Amino acid sequence: MPKAPERIDLLVRADYLYPMSEGAPVIAGGEVAIRDGRIVHAGAARPSGSWDAGTVVDGAGKAVLPGFVNCHSHAASLVFRSQSDDGAGGAALYTVAFRMEKEVGEAEWADLARLGCADMLRAGITTINDIWYAPNRLAEAVEECGLRASIANKVFDVALENLHRGDYARIPGRGESRLADGVAFARAWHGRAGGRITARIGTHASDTCDAGLHREARAEATRLGIGMHIHTAQSRQEAEFIRAQCGCGPLEYLRDIGLLAPDVVCAHLTFAGDGDLAAVAETGAAYAHCPIIYPRRGVYPRFSEIVARGIPTGFATDWMQNDPFEGMRYALNAVRVIAGDHRALTCREALWRHTMGAARVLGLDGEIGSLEAGKKADLIMLDLDRPHLQPFYGDYPALVYYARASDVVTSVVDGRVVLRDGRLTRLDEASVVAGVKAHLPRWRETLRGLGSTALAPDGPCAC
Ligand SMILES: [Zn+2]
Repeated sequence: MPKAPERIDLLVRADYLYPMSEGAPVIAGGEVAIRDGRIVHAGAARPSGSWDAGTVVDGAGKAVLPGFVNCHSHAASLVFRSQSDDGAGGAALYTVAFRMEKEVGEAEWADLARLGCADMLRAGITTINDIWYAPNRLAEAVEECGLRASIANKVFDVALENLHRGDYARIPGRGESRLADGVAFARAWHGRAGGRITARIGTHASDTCDAGLHREARAEATRLGIGMHIHTAQSRQEAEFIRAQCGCGPLEYLRDIGLLAPDVVCAHLTFAGDGDLAAVAETGAAYAHCPIIYPRRGVYPRFSEIVARGIPTGFATDWMQNDPFEGMRYALNAVRVIAGDHRALTCREALWRHTMGAARVLGLDGEIGSLEAGKKADLIMLDLDRPHLQPFYGDYPALVYYARASDVVTSVVDGRVVLRDGRLTRLDEASVVAGVKAHLPRWRETLRGLGSTALAPDGPCAC
């Protein structure tokens, strides 16, 4: 007697399935069966009649892969788009971005958070690990749009707007108050939206919190049973400040004060010395590598050495350009050029680092990052019937070197379709974009006041 069809909620078919699980090859003619938000089968298509599916997504001309995991992001930071990329380079982080941040209000951060979420989902990102202002507003946007997110309030005790002058005066009460807000956020949101939203404690950077604040933040994270998220060795100024104060590198310092542990995500490590990398490796802390941001500042972290030391490493977008495909290509090209060896990073590893590798950085590799039975159903579908992708041979370079974020047509998070045929299902994209554009005149004025050199004139030249 033939077996009765197995009831499932969603069946996603694919001409090519990239499971990214251990040892699994790319599967031609694959499918993913989903029930109650979890994968019950990911592999070769079973004979017709195997499934009784509530919804079937046709896979003709499509590739399916795990949703991208973005293990270091600032979804709402898009207000600085183009303002720190040219000319002043990394210095604009201090002269423009850090000084502008305090001029942006909660309602503006809310509109920017929705824009950032829309941007992430459109690019195939299904999980973010975010540290920024107004975490409640981001959590609301995440809850609404269907993303998965780990969110931290940005904790610091200096005046960020004065760092460009080298002024590190600690502002009384600021660190305690921002940490208290982070703890309150974690208590309110950790585990919400069916577990899609989790919280972290986020001390901004090694130099923007004093040792006591770092220690208290670590203690709060441990008490709450949640992880931490921090920028480390992200700028020359930070590394030089810590060396002048403590006689060691930023990561050695964070180890010595007891902050580093396996539940800490360290972004950047750009100016990390040998002792810093050893500190990360020996404490088991994880590393978020943001390939898009480094080359435009003329630097690149020691990626291959970091990986060789066994530090859990995943890819992330950081800010402004939330495009994992661009990120993988930046990384491939930079790592290969630095090594003088085209074998220094493979396309499969690049894809792994933006899926499984980044999930491991967040301690979520048992739940997301690959398509295999038992895991949460976070996946994306790419349209292959496009001139820049044909002929498509179904290997890793076919996807990693040629696909674009705009090829993502469908995204599923927790078994729910959040992007269908290129349209967000739970956010009105036009109103999200309009909401942000309404703020543009004020932001332009603020940036001009801060001396930004990256603004086009308001209207036609009068001369
Ligand atoms: Zn960052």
